[in-house]
Amino acid sequence: MTPGPRTLPLRCQCGHVRGVANEVAPRGGFRFVCYCQDCQAFARFLERSDVLDIAGGTDIFQMPTGRVKLTAGTDAVRCLRLSPKVFRWYTACCATPIGNSAGPGFPVVGLIHSFMGHDADGRSRDEVLGAPLCRIYERSAIGPLPPDAPGPPSASLFVSRASRILGWWLRGLGRPTPFFDEHTNAPLFVPRVLTPSERAVLAKDQQSNHSASHLGEG
Ligand SMILES: [Zn+2]
Ligand SMILES: [Zn+2]
Repeated sequence: MTPGPRTLPLRCQCGHVRGVANEVAPRGGFRFVCYCQDCQAFARFLERSDVLDIAGGTDIFQMPTGRVKLTAGTDAVRCLRLSPKVFRWYTACCATPIGNSAGPGFPVVGLIHSFMGHDADGRSRDEVLGAPLCRIYERSAIGPLPPDAPGPPSASLFVSRASRILGWWLRGLGRPTPFFDEHTNAPLFVPRVLTPSERAVLAKDQQSNHSASHLGEG
């Protein structure tokens, strides 16, 4: 049975930052597992390797940004940039990864499972979002993939994702965004850019719990 669209509560681990994702349904988004080095470095930066699967994968649900709202605790939202293209949002209160954006003009936010509160009403992530459709960047995986890892993306999946995102853009579903200023397009939470040496530590430090104290600043 295909579930209809639902409202998905969003919350950080400690509950300070909260929000809501509207009209969430498997066909209203695109769920995948990303094994790229930057997603792993993001979790390591937050000392939250627990949000990764055993091979370093991040469970991400891409959906229209305009359907996501932050309703409380935005004073604790922070931004990290590991590459020029991606804004990575997280909370300073409890180091919960929120998600990723490609920029103010791209109508998509990739919500990370750690910011989803679906457990509150007893439904599994698969019930709410559908099973992950594919995995990407598996060459950066840090170990054998979990037995239930989704398959690699097919060409048709890329095409359907692209046409879905184009549809969101045409329908203006990228706005309003909780992450960028409506008028200036500047990020509402000033991005922190790591120095090359900070970045190198995260890259090398693949599975350890290093204790750099880089949270809560700014
Ligand atoms: Zn928190
Ligand atoms: Zn990634």
